Amino acid sequence: MRLLIIGNGITGVTAALTVRRLRPEAQITLVSEESEHHYSRTALMYVYMGHMRYQNIKPYEDWFWRENRLTLVHATATHLDAARQHVTLHDGQQLGYDKLLLATGSVSRAADWPGQHLRGVQGLYGLPDLARMEQSTRGIEHGVVVGGGLIGVELAEMLHSRGIGATVLVRDAHYWGSVLPPAEARLVDQQFEENHVAVRYQTELAEILGDAAGQVRAVRTTAGDEIACQWVGLATGVTPNLTLANTSAVETDRGILVDELLQTSVPLVYAAGDCAQHRQPAHGEVPIEQLWYTGRMQGETVAHTICGTPTPYRRGVWFNSAKFFNLEYQTYGRVPARPEAGIDTFYWEHASGRQGLRINFRSAPGFAVTGFNALGLRLRQAVCETWITAQTPIQEVMSHLGAANFDPEFYRQHEADMVAQFNRQFPQHATVLRHRKGLFFR
Ligand SMILES: Cc1cc2nc3c(=O)[nH]c(=O)nc-3n(C[C@H](O)[C@H](O)[C@H](O)COP(=O)(O)OP(=O)(O)OC[C@H]3O[C@@H](n4cnc5c(N)ncnc54)[C@H](O)[C@@H]3O)c2cc1C
Repeated sequence: MRLLIIGNGITGVTAALTVRRLRPEAQITLVSEESEHHYSRTALMYVYMGHMRYQNIKPYEDWFWRENRLTLVHATATHLDAARQHVTLHDGQQLGYDKLLLATGSVSRAADWPGQHLRGVQGLYGLPDLARMEQSTRGIEHGVVVGGGLIGVELAEMLHSRGIGATVLVRDAHYWGSVLPPAEARLVDQQFEENHVAVRYQTELAEILGDAAGQVRAVRTTAGDEIACQWVGLATGVTPNLTLANTSAVETDRGILVDELLQTSVPLVYAAGDCAQHRQPAHGEVPIEQLWYTGRMQGETVAHTICGTPTPYRRGVWFNSAKFFNLEYQTYGRVPARPEAGIDTFYWEHASGRQGLRINFRSAPGFAVTGFNALGLRLRQAVCETWITAQTPIQEVMSHLGAANFDPEFYRQHEADMVAQFNRQFPQHATVLRHRKGLFFR
């Protein structure tokens, strides 16, 4: 089998490695326009901040690919001819395939603001962006970041690490308003304050202003303010990269449309990861998943189907993690930003404002837990997922909270407080702590 994969991100590489394991004889070729070798996109910020060098964010040594008979092609795939089963590269070379996986990822989304093409205005998605940011933030005093999501806070932290002042413009009334409940967002705010990053809520970008040389000099906000800056980071989300798919008959919408086997509308062509849009997402799931771990799962799943074992993609319990300056964040299951009908929510916060724990559970008898948000403390993924999948009652979860924690010492100190607060808030579910021997270290 000749397998051609476009994109060497986590999705493409996971698919390649899985196929190599399942089909030792397969001919596997990975094409990428961005880099010769796979690297961890999520670690880009650490290169800018000087914590890591580029070679440190490549999970595999350069010899690994040859050793595993994975052919790497550093080129742009410009055209897909699905009828003739080949892809054309920018230099005219044609690569034939028996099966093709489109794992083309995303591109930064831009909203067509006046001035967005000025020098010093950019998004952060890949290595060319990192190089551009490296160059255009050298020696500057102030940068403005547009967007209150994960990349927005990363950009602010990157600027801060080099002593560059930062202002973040956030459309919502609080940070990451579409995802975080206000209490959790306040903890993130504290991080912004401690790191002297100015955040303007309910404020959008109106216009980017340039000087005579075409270099950004300020932004104007929808509130009418002008903020002087020498660099603007656009962090208003990403959108599936459809450039190659759109040269073919492969059906697209916002992403490349796929069924549960991650098959596109064209035979022998699959799509997975950030670029794929699920035709029928399961209840409560989003059609386009733009996460590292879902890319890995989709890459692994599609590899089985490609190798002849049709395997539907099942994401399982939702999970995500991030870091806002010094504040770690994890989420499991469903924890929407706003209260949901039929769901009760328990929120505990440490007096320091540096740790928060939210647990959602059904209001109806059974009182099954449905989701967890943890900030400043680390939960054990396997325990939380088991509790959610098994529809464990909230009382049982509260009485065994320590089982989910990575830091038993912290829990020993605060578990009693959490449970006492829970009992005050939900006297009908009042519970007692149980410290079963060994539970903390499971
Ligand atoms: C700065 C940043 C931080 C992030 N942090 C997190 C995080 O903390 N946690 C998390 O879960 N997710 C995070 N993400 C999202 C996560 O990185 C992505 O969901 C994931 O990398 C997507 O993997 P992928 O393999 O589907 O696509 P990609 O990693 O985008 O790989 C696709 C590759 O295909 C190449 N390509 C596209 N078209 C062509 C073509 N025509 N020819 C040749 N090559 C082509 C692209 O250049 C790219 O290299 C972050 C993203 C960014 C940008």
